[in-house]
Amino acid sequence: MTTTTEPTNTDTPQTGGTAIFDSLESQVRSYCRSWPAVMTHSQGSTVTSEDGREFLDFFAGAGALNYGHNNSALLEPLLDYLREGRIVHSLDMHTGAKREFLQTFSDLVLEPRNLDYKVMFPGPTGTNSVEAALKLARKVTGRQHVLSFTNAFHGMTLGSLAVTGNSMKRKGAGIPLTNSSKIPYDDYFNGVVDDFMWLERVLQDSGSGVDKPAAIIVESVQGEGGLNAARLDWLKALSDLCREYDIILIVDDVQAGCGRTGTFFSFEEAGFTPDIVCLSKSISGFGLPMALTLFRPELDQFEPGEHNGTFRGHNLAFVTARAALETYWADDSFQKDVQAKVTEFRAGLTRIAERYEGATVRGRGFLTGIAFPDASAAGKIAAAAYERGLLVETSGPEDEVLKTMPPLTTAPEELNRGLDILEEATASVLGDGNPA
Ligand code: PMP
Repeated sequence: MTTTTEPTNTDTPQTGGTAIFDSLESQVRSYCRSWPAVMTHSQGSTVTSEDGREFLDFFAGAGALNYGHNNSALLEPLLDYLREGRIVHSLDMHTGAKREFLQTFSDLVLEPRNLDYKVMFPGPTGTNSVEAALKLARKVTGRQHVLSFTNAFHGMTLGSLAVTGNSMKRKGAGIPLTNSSKIPYDDYFNGVVDDFMWLERVLQDSGSGVDKPAAIIVESVQGEGGLNAARLDWLKALSDLCREYDIILIVDDVQAGCGRTGTFFSFEEAGFTPDIVCLSKSISGFGLPMALTLFRPELDQFEPGEHNGTFRGHNLAFVTARAALETYWADDSFQKDVQAKVTEFRAGLTRIAERYEGATVRGRGFLTGIAFPDASAAGKIAAAAYERGLLVETSGPEDEVLKTMPPLTTAPEELNRGLDILEEATASVLGDGNPA
């Protein structure tokens, strides 16, 4: 095994090119269409392609690489673990790695935040965590209906799709997606309608025809749905409403969690405790698949094995997850550093947005971007950024928002370099705008 991050010369003409992807891989593949280079190496916030091009990565594995690529603080314990012949796959048996992860998670994440949660290991992806949350809420309450929000994204399996907004993704289910309804996310009506007027009214009215829900599932920032960031007051009011009507509140922190918004959980500053929390993406820290579903102890009602799976708790992910928590979350210095960088970065995005009529900065923490009035602009700017060596994605129902999600460990100089590229890419598509 090589641990070097230097491109090697092992790519022969026979192995190079993209023909095998075109001929063999399903057409469902997507990111590689915007970023067709063949990536071979990565380090920190940089990805290198086999032809030696370097890309600054402001997408970070869709939020799975909050601590950057091949972070040595995580890589070294992982390599040691493998070299020592320690157990890799173990279903959900007791292992040393799992014990150490659970202890560290309890000491550094749950206890300091006064969170009394049981930890469940569903399958290793975000949608696995959401499915477990939905099933549990239904089992505990005996109710079927779940409310979710306009423009929500919760995953691609049937239960998660049923609570997702995007019509193209929903259509892919091929069957009716039932037992859920959509309610307006914060500011859906531009402040014209009271936040929870409809919801409160139908919950109070036994003739409303809206079944009392088992749960409401929400993202604090809608990462896929257009970088809409709910106000903290709105989240708290939602939590109060759920308490009042005995509805389970699920926060899907798959994308916004693990420090992405500046605190470990995205809801910390809002001053409430969700009943269930979904975590995945950056919980392993290294890009290894891992997910958690956290819930209040009273909700711990699955029978042993009632929600099972082969890959529930992978030891390699436990090792890197523990190392990530110890390296970055043992005190608040990393969090403060991230928050300071976020302030600077957002100011940079604002400077770009201000040049273009109607462009606005969206999101919270390092889950931010720019919404352009011309829905086609963001995709073109992302393509122009790629040509200039920067990976950024789009978000929103029409892909109208340019989305930036750098690793939280990105150095200030790299953040500035990325902003410069964005500025140039935007100007190449929309012209110079109105210089400040
Ligand atoms: N929930 C949210 C909020 C997400 O952003 C995502 C993925 N983008 C998921 C769930 C699904 O995660 P996965 O792709 O790992 O299934």
